[in-house]
Amino acid sequence: MKESTAPDSLYLEGARREEICQIFGEAYDPARWNDWRWQMRHRLIRLEQFEQLLRLTPSERRGLQLANEKFSVAVTPHFAELMDPEDPDCPIRRQVVPREEELVVSRGDMVDPCGEDHDSPVPGLVHRYPDRVLLLALDTCAAYCRYCTRARLVSQGELDPLPRRVDAVIEYLREHTEVRDVLISGGDPLLMSDDRLDEILGRIRAIPHIEFVRIGSRVPSFLPQRITPELVAVLRRHRVWLSLHFCHAREMAPDVAAACDRLADGGVPLGSQTVLLKGVNDDVQTLKELFHVLLMNRVRPYYLYQCDPVVGTGHFRTSVARGIELIGGLRGHTTGYAVPT
Ligand code: SF4
Repeated sequence: MKESTAPDSLYLEGARREEICQIFGEAYDPARWNDWRWQMRHRLIRLEQFEQLLRLTPSERRGLQLANEKFSVAVTPHFAELMDPEDPDCPIRRQVVPREEELVVSRGDMVDPCGEDHDSPVPGLVHRYPDRVLLLALDTCAAYCRYCTRARLVSQGELDPLPRRVDAVIEYLREHTEVRDVLISGGDPLLMSDDRLDEILGRIRAIPHIEFVRIGSRVPSFLPQRITPELVAVLRRHRVWLSLHFCHAREMAPDVAAACDRLADGGVPLGSQTVLLKGVNDDVQTLKELFHVLLMNRVRPYYLYQCDPVVGTGHFRTSVARGIELIGGLRGHTTGYAVPT
C-alpha cells in the first residue's frame, strides 16, 4: 500500500541541505537536520544568509533590510530547502521572504483586522462567540508568514508565553460554563515542549464543560521534524483536533507527508486552512492541486480565507469576487471533500 504522498515532481529531496548547513559553517548531518530544535536554532533570519541561498531581487533585498524592524523574518532550513533560488515568484519563497511592498500601508489596512484585542478578557484569550474561545499560545512561530493576521503580536515580544498565563486562563474557563470549544492557536502552540503541552491540555480537558479542543498550527509545514511520536501521543491523549495551514502543494514535501501520516496514524483528526494569496495560489488549478494533495495525505481542506487587511499585505490580497469565483471553479469540479468552506 502506498503510504504518505508528496508531489515528487515538485521536490528535489536533499539537494540543497549541504548548502544550507554551510551558511552556518556546518556539514550536513541527517540526524541533526531531523532534530526540530536544531532546525529552530538554524533558522535563516538575516539578509546575508538569504543572499547565500537565493538570487534576491532588489525588492526582496530591501524587504530583508527593513522588514525585521516591523515583523520578524525567520525561515526554517526545512522550508528554505523548498524555495526556488532563481525564481522570486516561487510560491514557497513568496510566503516567507519579505518584499519592499510590505512597507506600503494601503487604504483600509489595520493592525488588528479581526478586532481580537477588544474581545480579550484575559491576556491572550479572545472570547467573542458565546461558546468558543481562542487562546493565543506563544509569540513565536517556526517561520513567519508575510501575511500574518497576528503580526501585531507574533514575534513582538509582548505576549507572555501561555505557561505563564495559564492560571488566569483556566480560572476564566472554569467560571464561564458557556464555553465548550477551545482553539489554541498562533504563535504556534506546537513549539511548546511535550511536557508543557501535556500539562496545559490536561488542565483544559479537566474542565467538565469543555467538549472540544483544537490546535491551530503551521508546524507540520514549516517544521515537520517536530511531529515526533511523543508529541502525537500527547495530542491523542487529550483528543485534540489539529487545524494545519497549507497554502501551496509544494509544501507537501516527503518529510511533511510523513509527519501527516504520523498524525493520522496516531488518531489525530486533521483539517487545513488556506489563505488566498495573490501570486501564490489564486487560480483554480493551483488550489485543486493543493486540496488534492491534502486529501491524499488524509488532511481535509477546511477553510479558504481571504487574506485579512493587515498592514503591509496589500500586495497579497485578491478581491472577494475572485475568491467566490475560485470556489465556483472547484465546487462540482472535484471531490466534495476537496472543497473548503
Ligand atoms: S504560522 Fe500563523 S501565527 Fe505564525 S506567522 Fe504564520 S500566520 Fe502568523
